[in-house]
Amino acid sequence: MTLAHIAGYPRIGAGRELKRATEAYWQGGLDRVSLEATGAELRQRHWAQQREAGLDWVTVGDFAFYDQVLDLSVMLGAVPGRFQADQEIADGQVDLDTAFRMARGRAPSGEPAAACEMTKYFDTNYHYLVPELHAGQSFRLASSALFDQVDEALAAGHPVKVTLLGPLTWLWLGKIRDEPPAGEEFDRLALLEALLPVYGEILTRLAEQGVEWVQLDEPALVQDLPRAWQQAYERAYHVLGGAPVKLLLASVYGGLGDNLGLAVNLPVAGLHIDAVRAPEQLEAVLDRLPAYKVLSAGAIDGRNVWRADLARLRDSLMEARRRLGERLWLSASCSLLHVPVDLDNERELAPDLKRWLAFARQKLDEIVTLARLLEGRDTPRDRERLEAASLALQARREAVQLHRPAVAERLGGVRPEDTQRASAYPQRAVAQRRALNLPLFPTTTIGSFPQTTEIRATRRDFKHGALSVEAYEARMREEIAETVVRQESLGLDMLVHGEAERNDMVEYFGEQLEGYVFTANGWVQSYGSRCVKPPVIVGDVSRPGPMTVRWSKHAQSLTDRPMKGMLTGPVTMLQWAFVRDDQPREVTCRQIALALRDEVLDLEAAGIRAIQIDEPALREGLPLRRAEWPGYLAWAVECFRLAASGVSDATQIHTHMCYAEFNDIIDAIAALDADVITIETSRSAMELLDAFRDFAYPNEIGPGVYDIHSPNIPEVAWMIALMGKAAERIPVERLWVNPDCGLKTRGWAEVAPALANMVEAARTLRQRH
Ligand code: GLN
Ligand code: ZN
Repeated sequence: MTLAHIAGYPRIGAGRELKRATEAYWQGGLDRVSLEATGAELRQRHWAQQREAGLDWVTVGDFAFYDQVLDLSVMLGAVPGRFQADQEIADGQVDLDTAFRMARGRAPSGEPAAACEMTKYFDTNYHYLVPELHAGQSFRLASSALFDQVDEALAAGHPVKVTLLGPLTWLWLGKIRDEPPAGEEFDRLALLEALLPVYGEILTRLAEQGVEWVQLDEPALVQDLPRAWQQAYERAYHVLGGAPVKLLLASVYGGLGDNLGLAVNLPVAGLHIDAVRAPEQLEAVLDRLPAYKVLSAGAIDGRNVWRADLARLRDSLMEARRRLGERLWLSASCSLLHVPVDLDNERELAPDLKRWLAFARQKLDEIVTLARLLEGRDTPRDRERLEAASLALQARREAVQLHRPAVAERLGGVRPEDTQRASAYPQRAVAQRRALNLPLFPTTTIGSFPQTTEIRATRRDFKHGALSVEAYEARMREEIAETVVRQESLGLDMLVHGEAERNDMVEYFGEQLEGYVFTANGWVQSYGSRCVKPPVIVGDVSRPGPMTVRWSKHAQSLTDRPMKGMLTGPVTMLQWAFVRDDQPREVTCRQIALALRDEVLDLEAAGIRAIQIDEPALREGLPLRRAEWPGYLAWAVECFRLAASGVSDATQIHTHMCYAEFNDIIDAIAALDADVITIETSRSAMELLDAFRDFAYPNEIGPGVYDIHSPNIPEVAWMIALMGKAAERIPVERLWVNPDCGLKTRGWAEVAPALANMVEAARTLRQRH
């Protein structure tokens, strides 16, 4: 039998039930018993779907109220001291509220404490809570939630496979908090020996429950691992291989690369590979896989929403089936956590488009059908699916509305000089100084101003048809006018229109571009109860007409000060969407860049003298393997430049990024050649600027002087001190003064005094220089 299984299923529920329940629980509107009941209900529903689809197992261990990495940290007893109030640990078990406090800093019970750090999981848009590690840390089995869930599934009559993050990847994702003094460096890998016995205990308990297979997820294996870590894999799995269960070592999100030999030979019963991101590794794995091992081929795309080409997959896996026989299993490339739950929920999508897609629920069918096709056990229903998939794919290939010859033609006609500003920065700076007439230490903001309840209500009314276009636009123009007045009276130098008319920085543009499609319920978990609904880039992207010009023009007409136009950059537009899989991502990105280029030029023609092109997602697009960085950065930078470079010297191009690591990509940041870059630095006390200083970054920088994520009002002296530190690293002629990100999540009660202080700080600095 070609066994069919999944690495994991989305837990949020088709109607985002988990979000609603956890948020209600946090707010006191739902009690603990009801919350737990919602969780149990969702698990039962998802397991039933897996069985009904015909999977050979249900996968247990993919559920979490907040984050599965957090749950594992809790299970291993890795709870930082500040959360360990005695009353909350009953029978040695860490309470759910403790987990919530680790995630959010607070929970219905227990004392608030600083939340754990959260960051993106590998190259996905899913965020996990970073395990906090320290020297001498000990571990213990501190939660039985997983075992309880196994019992639940068994009681429901399901055959069970368990999924659990492996020990090396858990450590890999962890961080030492409070770095020890220099010279006493501590390597988190040293904690492995202490960790393994707890893993052993977990595996033994699962075996006692009757679990035969445990999937240990080790995505760290698709990254560049130091030698010591590779060796640790051998050590660890030598120990874990002795557990009384069969282990399926799961590599996801990419190819094993130089870890391939290591991975195939670890003493475990099976190996899962990502055959979507790295189909080429299948052959090498087949050649090297020991004869006793099972190979789980992750052939259905767990990262994207396109319907699988079952005929092509069947053909490409036939050889594997022939060589492995029943030792070949079938799965999705990775957990289905990263795709929306159920396409059947999309009642408004055009039927022809809908049949090109598959969400998690549909992917279960694809896995099962593919498995049955491979072993020649296919039913009439499978053959129907095969046929339907082939027809849908053919229709997609031929869909005239998706393939616009004009877009391809224009792309083909791009010349090198199109990605090049007319003059180098020093000359542009002269022209811009003349055009903008800004003081030293010019002040500005990042784009958005508070999205008040009124603004959101107005937008909602408009969307639901309760407000006419005219009435809506009039309201937004008023809002912009107010924002301009506020900024003028605060004394800011370069103004923004405030982005009141935008719901989301990607959706707003996607809705106005050809080639983008939006789902009604295509939610994906981003972190905790936060879900995002990424648009789908389905066809060639082009811009039917100006998108932001009338707003920016209106805003500029109200003031003599320069008004910054505000756009989302091509890489971010790509990165925060489900991207078509029938052409290289960089081609899609270039199409977006050309559409934005037209917008930039229209803004310039409308009298906008500064245009900001936000690229907060540039860094997160980095491939998991270093060797692939230069290739990615080359086209990402080129796309930004393609969007930005059409303007004259005097038009100032800004960009904004908000993440905390620039060191390793500083050359690419410089290559963007933006006249001004505003970045997040306040939390690192300007130390992030070291990278810019060391690189001798040539253009202007606005290092954020206060953290917009905090409700605290920054003090004048504090911001002056920060800018003093900035001035030690960057010549003052090239420094700007601004907050570290957009202000849309804050209220005016915080924003007004904060900006007043910021302007005062800038004035003081001017007097000193
Ligand atoms: N211009 C956007 C804003 O101010 C930038 C958002 C971001 O950096 N993510 O909201
Ligand atoms: Zn930002």
